[in-house]
Amino acid sequence: MRCTALRWPVDLPTSIGGQRLGIIARRAKYLLLPLQTGGLIIHLGMSGHLAVVRAGTRPGKHDHIDLELDDGNVVRFTDPRRFGSFHWQPYPLERHRLLANLGPEPLSAAFDGDYLARRARKRRLPIKTLLMDAKEVVGVGNIYANEALFAAGIRPRVAAGRLSRQRLRALADAVKATLASAIQSGGTTLRDFVATDGRPGYFVHELAVYGRDGEPCRRCDTPLKGVRLGGRATVYCPSCQT
Ligand SMILES: [Zn+2]
Repeated sequence: MRCTALRWPVDLPTSIGGQRLGIIARRAKYLLLPLQTGGLIIHLGMSGHLAVVRAGTRPGKHDHIDLELDDGNVVRFTDPRRFGSFHWQPYPLERHRLLANLGPEPLSAAFDGDYLARRARKRRLPIKTLLMDAKEVVGVGNIYANEALFAAGIRPRVAAGRLSRQRLRALADAVKATLASAIQSGGTTLRDFVATDGRPGYFVHELAVYGRDGEPCRRCDTPLKGVRLGGRATVYCPSCQT
């Protein structure tokens, strides 16, 4: 393994050499590379990516970590902005501080209207703020929170605890549908993200509210309203969302 400085120090045990790599998984924004005595937890940061290159390929300026495989290839971590990070954790991986307090995956069965109702009960914070808190549910970024709330007909600022179970069920379904559709289209990020075939994400063309402040609602033509909520751009239809 070869490594140059990232934003955080890379602290990996030297004993991982020779260990078999299992099936790579993902939890929230982290990639999990399971080895025999523990696993690597990798965050790609803002601009990082992993690629398989032939051993002996000279590292470029932004290549920071090489994981040498026994087939003559190298898994190379490239990160121009150096916000990515590598961590080592003995099993169970979920005990790592980065993973220990995360809410469920939004596309898993653990996340549904009943779960949301339990989390929202008696709480006054805006439903959008709850939705974007990784301790409640992971992976619902600002764009998707805006879109899911529109799809469910719920105003972003409504106190979570005021929403009926039925409306929270609609919201959980909308979150799943929004994310599934975004994944299908290849994601939204335009700046750094490229698909494995080099194309950018295209979900942006299908957005109903995000980035459309002042434009007519696609459903009712009412001008969409933009506000800041928790410091994040929030757009909703004052007519369709209550
Ligand atoms: Zn509308």
